[in-house]
Amino acid sequence: MTVELGVIADDITGACDVAAGVTAAGIGAEVRLGVPDPTVPPSAACVIVALKSRTAPAAQAVADSVAAARALRAWDARRLYQKYCSTFDSTDRGNIGPVADALVDEWGAAASVGTPVTPAVGRTMHRGHLFVGDRLLSESSLAQHPLTPMHDPDLVRVLGRQTPHRVGLVPIESVRAGSAAVVDAVRELRADGTRHILVDAVTDGDLDAAAAAVTASDDLLLGGAAGLAVALARGLASGTAPAVDPVPDGRGLILSGSGSERTRAQVAAYPGPRWQLDVDALAADPDAVVAAAGAFIDAAGGIPLVSATADPHDVARVQERWGRERAAVLVEEALSRIAAAAVARSGVRRILVAGGETSGAVAAGLGVSTLRVRRVAAPGVAWTTAPDAAGRALDLCFKSGNFGGTDFFTAAFEDEPA
Ligand code: ADP
Repeated sequence: MTVELGVIADDITGACDVAAGVTAAGIGAEVRLGVPDPTVPPSAACVIVALKSRTAPAAQAVADSVAAARALRAWDARRLYQKYCSTFDSTDRGNIGPVADALVDEWGAAASVGTPVTPAVGRTMHRGHLFVGDRLLSESSLAQHPLTPMHDPDLVRVLGRQTPHRVGLVPIESVRAGSAAVVDAVRELRADGTRHILVDAVTDGDLDAAAAAVTASDDLLLGGAAGLAVALARGLASGTAPAVDPVPDGRGLILSGSGSERTRAQVAAYPGPRWQLDVDALAADPDAVVAAAGAFIDAAGGIPLVSATADPHDVARVQERWGRERAAVLVEEALSRIAAAAVARSGVRRILVAGGETSGAVAAGLGVSTLRVRRVAAPGVAWTTAPDAAGRALDLCFKSGNFGGTDFFTAAFEDEPA
């Protein structure tokens, strides 16, 4: 299987976001969790490596990204794409810049070219300034992000703080003039010694022009969020839809550890049986809580929901009492253990997980290492098939907190093609 597009994603739900979009564009996609074993050959034209490198120490993010690039090189991947968040989540130390520098060197690329623009979720860029909906990045809720607060909307400046190399911009006028004008603009910037090139874009048509320009050269590291990756897939697709795997038999389960506004609405709207995880009880006796949740899953009819999702003031109270990190670990470990027990003992085979960190923890608890997209469930969200460590076929959907409609917890299980 020729790998047309090798992607290194800095978190698991971002990887699934790309996988869903690329599949919808007509290219088969597979997600490898963690640095992949190069001796296990890929089975899809797009391979996405899901790392946990967005907020890791920069040295770790670089080491894992370089190791992932080596595996993709061993599979003769034709193009390398550095996937980061569509809101450019990073700090002055990285990790987007240090990883881009290391991947340019590792891949033997002349420069990196990319854009976080993803019109489907309202991320657009003008004069290098990123917008979230109709607000500048720095005036959006991302300015208050707990780990990577984004106070500067000028991404040329933001990336410039993360790398010793020159950062430049292809402005919207060049993009609107078409892919040949983008090729010229990139060439001029490279001649000027620019190593990292960001591209303005507002629409998917702009991204198609950028994608056509960057695929014309084979000495570039590509980068960005799902928007440009999907535009690249549109350009590569043969028109033949990838084969769809059948839905595995077995019970369904929903696990929610996200605190985001959208997931709170999804939990509130869910009409099925629900079990609320209590962080104070978890701190006192995690084994008892995990056992009680297991008993609830066994007794519940339909598709049970086990949720830690709570209002921000409840989360703040719990974090004050136990510490932010400890509270998160308590919840993540509990959901991970509940998932593993539900598969081992309760006949659960289909699991929908809400939350990025939560998804990483549940995937690790289940012992899965490869996800193959089965079908797109909503923009940016896919059902994937994955063998677990015991060889059981699981059907897993890892959803970023803010994705999916309010009725997603119900719709995701119902809208199966006949
Ligand atoms: P999102 O994708 O919405 O950011 P994540 O799963 O990445 O969701 O992050 C949510 C974090 O909040 C996780 O680390 C989770 O363990 C933690 N968490 C979830 N519920 C609670 C709670 N009730 N109290 C404290 N922390 C919580």
